[in-house]
Amino acid sequence: MAIFGAVGALVAAVALPAYAASKPTDATAQTVQQLAAVDAQSLVVASEATAAPLVRGAFSATTPEEIEKKKAEEAAAAAARAAAAAASASASAPSSGTFNTSGYALVAPGSGQVRYPLPLGSWNVSRTVGGGHNGADMLAPAGTPIYAAAAGVVRASAESIGGYGVAVMLDSVVGGQQVQTTYGHMLYGSRQVQAGQTVAAGQLIGYVGSTGRSTANHLHFEVWINGGLVEPMSWLSVNAG
Ligand SMILES: [Zn+2]
Repeated sequence: MAIFGAVGALVAAVALPAYAASKPTDATAQTVQQLAAVDAQSLVVASEATAAPLVRGAFSATTPEEIEKKKAEEAAAAAARAAAAAASASASAPSSGTFNTSGYALVAPGSGQVRYPLPLGSWNVSRTVGGGHNGADMLAPAGTPIYAAAAGVVRASAESIGGYGVAVMLDSVVGGQQVQTTYGHMLYGSRQVQAGQTVAAGQLIGYVGSTGRSTANHLHFEVWINGGLVEPMSWLSVNAG
């Protein structure tokens, strides 16, 4: 095992020189594992797409085993960078940027504890939970505002979280249930919240993009309740308003 470990480290150092200086700390180990596990779950497949690319350009591996290894290494490196970014979040607020938001409300419609994460009528669902995919892919134009589906605390907010790309994760409690939501593939520089920050239901948290493992502008929206994955659109249709 020591040999494999050394080889793996060498491969990582050669293939990913930009990440060589980023080593996960003990504090981020659990996050790295969690993110590596979900890294492959954020590929959008538009209804007309037939052969979405499996890997990004940075990968030089050719066998499935090598590709999986590279993906895991990239996820770990990305998570480490995300953790580093989160650690310095208090000193550097996300860029406010300029986005095409004319005609969109800056707070989600409704007054309930649960809100739709995009403006009503702005999206179409191209894919939902199933086949190893843990969220709903809501196709919407780049720059469409993304709202917090429920009040809560920002668990993660970073420019690169594995395959999610620019993403925000929230911890909420709704009706006594622990609700965790994830918002992936946002535009670079568009996050409006920082890790540890408290947000209100419907608060603007970012803008739709196509960062990370994505082939079209869309919001990858995940909902976990008490640790169990739920189908987001069904959950929204029953609860949002
Ligand atoms: Zn997705």
